[in-house]
Amino acid sequence: MSQHERHVRVAVIGSGFGGLGAAIRLRREGVTDFVVLERADSVGGTWRDNSYPGCACDVPSHLYSFSFAPNPDWPRTFSGQRHIRAYLERVADTFGLRPHLRLGHEVRRMRWDNDELRWEIETGRGDLTADVVVCAAGPLSDPKIPDIPGLAAFEEQGGRVFHSARWDHGYDLTGKRVAVIGTGASAIQIIPAIQPEVRRLTLFQRTPAWVMPRMDRPITAAERWLHRKVPATATARRGLLWGIRELQVSAFTKRPNELGLVENIAKANMARAVRDPELRAKLTPDYRIGCKRILLSSEYYPALARPNVDVVAAGLTEIRGNRLIGADGSEAEVDAIVFGTGFHVTDMPIAERVTGADGITLAESWKDGMESLRGATAAGFPNWMTIIGPNTGLGNSSMILMIESQLNYLADYIRHLDRLGPGTTLAARPSAVAAWNRRVQDRMKRTVWNVGGCDSWYLDANGRNTTIWPGTTAEFRRATRAVDLSEYEVVRVRDRGSRTEEALA
Ligand SMILES: Cc1cc2nc3c(=O)[nH]c(=O)nc-3n(C[C@H](O)[C@H](O)[C@H](O)COP(=O)(O)OP(=O)(O)OC[C@H]3O[C@@H](n4cnc5c(N)ncnc54)[C@H](O)[C@@H]3O)c2cc1C
Repeated sequence: MSQHERHVRVAVIGSGFGGLGAAIRLRREGVTDFVVLERADSVGGTWRDNSYPGCACDVPSHLYSFSFAPNPDWPRTFSGQRHIRAYLERVADTFGLRPHLRLGHEVRRMRWDNDELRWEIETGRGDLTADVVVCAAGPLSDPKIPDIPGLAAFEEQGGRVFHSARWDHGYDLTGKRVAVIGTGASAIQIIPAIQPEVRRLTLFQRTPAWVMPRMDRPITAAERWLHRKVPATATARRGLLWGIRELQVSAFTKRPNELGLVENIAKANMARAVRDPELRAKLTPDYRIGCKRILLSSEYYPALARPNVDVVAAGLTEIRGNRLIGADGSEAEVDAIVFGTGFHVTDMPIAERVTGADGITLAESWKDGMESLRGATAAGFPNWMTIIGPNTGLGNSSMILMIESQLNYLADYIRHLDRLGPGTTLAARPSAVAAWNRRVQDRMKRTVWNVGGCDSWYLDANGRNTTIWPGTTAEFRRATRAVDLSEYEVVRVRDRGSRTEEALA
């Protein structure tokens, strides 16, 4: 960190869709005094870290991209990781973000300075202060590997272990006996991609997933030409993809029983590929579709039906030497283990690194469950905003829609701070945070995520859904269009070192 950068107006953490989007928006708002602190050595977030075979988006590319940076050249309806990563690199160039990027700068700690009313930030490459922090560290960026007895010994004896988000490209799986742990969105993409080359693949499945066919196809040269020449056609395509998903929301949030019809399509998807009734029984979920993320794949079931694949319908409980033991007592000898076991979502590591105005960390403040105001700000953490904060996740549509809504909120937040003058902070009122969360949790009661009969990563350790937005993306857009100052306490530094508080509302 160079001398003149010791203080910045805004520090953005992370350079995935969220962090890059925030950087673009700040520039558009005329803020140039900002840095993007990224722990890795390149931008891309999710799409840099997840390079496993078969990795692709499961929301169509024309919707899973920024509305202000359309890409007429998406190669497929569901484009692969390589193309999404290249898109984000291009976005960083096109919008002039490179000078702001501080790659290799892992944020280790942040502390709110109550006297100076600013954030002190410690990174792996020097310290800085910032008036405002935009935390876009990603809800799915820190991989979770379960603590399985015998795992360390398995590795010590030469077994290979890696997580889907940290794929070991130096290890050739050809001819190997491989276990895949988990049946989430990543595992169902990995399995068909590696099944043809491995000697034996054993899937440890704690809970079967509902898997719908994926309508993936190349986008034709004619379509691409049309989108380039007449950009309105790409906009219309995006609008259609968005509209279809908006119409699905009420079934997820108000009438989960209607989703029963969709289960028939998923069952037919399975029946087409899996002839063995015993395997079909193992793969049939016993909870309502949509309760866990609905997965899309036309290759997953055919891969599971291949002769070199075994499905253990139980979780992995123990490893003895190179033998993996399932909860049902079944055993498999393997050379490598791939964990598709997800991320620290409701216990984000970044929350432990942030200390707010009351001297407690965000993790401590969230010990009974994550809570924020409009998915963005948190009580006790002034001038702090999260992109993809609590209850902003989606079960059926593009997260970029939610990120762009949060960018509107960010822009208005910065405008308010500018208007209020230097040395001013906005602190979310605890009463406003509580009221927002009461409304969110009240709506959550009827949703498929809460009543669908499953245990998912959407729920925290207390069984509370602190991750999903229980409404349409249009509702969220309206709720985040502007900052309502009555929900904030305005705090000013009149002269350095002394602090006065003032409620403007
Ligand atoms: C395999 C996979 C597929 C997905 N597919 C879809 C999809 O099809 N549709 C969809 O809507 N969503 C999808 N998602 C969700 C996806 O995570 C979001 O859509 C979006 O990419 C999140 O962007 P982000 O910028 O918030 O977080 P990320 O992309 O995770 O970026 C966070 C960044 O913060 C950095 N960071 C974290 N901690 C620190 C620190 N302490 N200091 C400095 N830097 C730090 C990380 O290195 C990372 O670069 C998928 C997720 C995964 C894992």
